[in-house]
Amino acid sequence: MKSWKELPIGAMIIEPGNSIEYNVAQWRVFRPVLDKNKCTKCGLCWIFCPEGAIVRNEDESYEVNLSFCKGCGICQRSCNVKAITMIKEEGL
Ligand code: SF4
Ligand code: SF4
Repeated sequence: MKSWKELPIGAMIIEPGNSIEYNVAQWRVFRPVLDKNKCTKCGLCWIFCPEGAIVRNEDESYEVNLSFCKGCGICQRSCNVKAITMIKEEGL
């Protein structure tokens, strides 16, 4: 997987569907933490995450794939039961 430092100048998209090749975790300041005990499995965070970083498991539970999460916080805002908390990345 490539680093964001290997993006083309201007972050131009020169190949369709290439976002899966890039690990965007390094530019994240906050990370989502999903509390499975509070989660009602409604799927709203999965629908609204712009990066496809919310993973739906076979048992219909959800988790975050942090390799593709850029920390925008949309999942937290979309969760009606406050099952997602954004916490600051350590070392920042
Ligand atoms: S913080 Fe943003 S990118 Fe990360 S899982 Fe939530 S909605 Fe997706
Ligand atoms: S929006 Fe909240 S309750 Fe719904 S699936 Fe995501 S974490 Fe669970």
